[in-house]
Amino acid sequence: MKACVLSDWEKLEILDLPMPELADGEVLVEVLYGGVCGSDVTVFHHRHPTATAPRILCHEILGRVKKINTDAPVPYKVGDKVCVFLLRSCGNCPACLTGHTSACSSLKVMGLHIDGGFAEYCKAPADCIIPVREELPNTVAALTEPFSVAFHACARAGVKAGDKVLVIGAGPIGLLSALTARYFGGKVTVSEIKKERLALAEEFGLDTLDPTEHDVFDAAREITGGVGFDVVLEVTGSQAGYDTMIKVCRECGTIVPVAIPSQPRAIQPNLFILKEIHLLGTRCCPKDEFARAAEMVWDLYKTEGLPMEKLVAKILPLEEVGEGLALQESGRCNGKVLIRIGGE
Ligand SMILES: [Zn+2]
Ligand SMILES: [Zn+2]
Repeated sequence: MKACVLSDWEKLEILDLPMPELADGEVLVEVLYGGVCGSDVTVFHHRHPTATAPRILCHEILGRVKKINTDAPVPYKVGDKVCVFLLRSCGNCPACLTGHTSACSSLKVMGLHIDGGFAEYCKAPADCIIPVREELPNTVAALTEPFSVAFHACARAGVKAGDKVLVIGAGPIGLLSALTARYFGGKVTVSEIKKERLALAEEFGLDTLDPTEHDVFDAAREITGGVGFDVVLEVTGSQAGYDTMIKVCRECGTIVPVAIPSQPRAIQPNLFILKEIHLLGTRCCPKDEFARAAEMVWDLYKTEGLPMEKLVAKILPLEEVGEGLALQESGRCNGKVLIRIGGE
């Protein structure tokens, strides 16, 4: 099979590899699309603390079931369109034993520690194969994993109907987080400095705020009747985002930093302490929530007036994964970059 392999750090090669061999209980998937993620960039540059090479990158995988190597009943058949769940948790650590499998202390992730989706085929345990609707366009279905990150962040924050939510940053994950927070019932405002990203958020009917034109603190008071936001999702990883998130959060509100900052960030402890703010970490999405995120993507697709196809900024062939990583790293894309492998 053809695969784009990170043969050494910062070195990608198109190689002809043997097909993945299936152990008992595993499923072979023919890959249709693989999404490019910031963490692929981190692994590419050898900035990820635990990822190993050589490695096939990509953990945002849409494909079709090619072969099922188990006699146990599964909710899909050969030919079905599926997402491949990215995480392998140990099941025995304190996090796993309390149900927080995405925070497993020895978590293995496709594309980082085991081979991922930038190849014609990949394999996964049978319970990591998540069916998606046949009617859902491939390019939208391929967004299920990044949507699942947003889903877990909103679930962690406990976003509920009527909550006033501020999403700081409308990059690919910021926009998905805003759509997800609204799906949870939140009244969402998106703060973003790039005009094209603001315009895209507005096309999805989201309220927006440009901090280069308005003082965010004043705007927050106005939007929330002087109270502050119930939930703030920080999706820039910038110091400006960290300064803003505590200022605009209400007393006893909840802040979830979703983006992983590229360097250490300061938090103003006084304001944080006096407001008794809940600050919650979030990582990838556990498996049960992933299936719910897949349902959410279907619901959003069916929602009239949402130009879901605009969430994809660029589609590239397998030979141009390097270009996809560069685009992702540049921050020039106002949406997701997808690699088309077997998809039409
Ligand atoms: Zn990702
Ligand atoms: Zn574990």
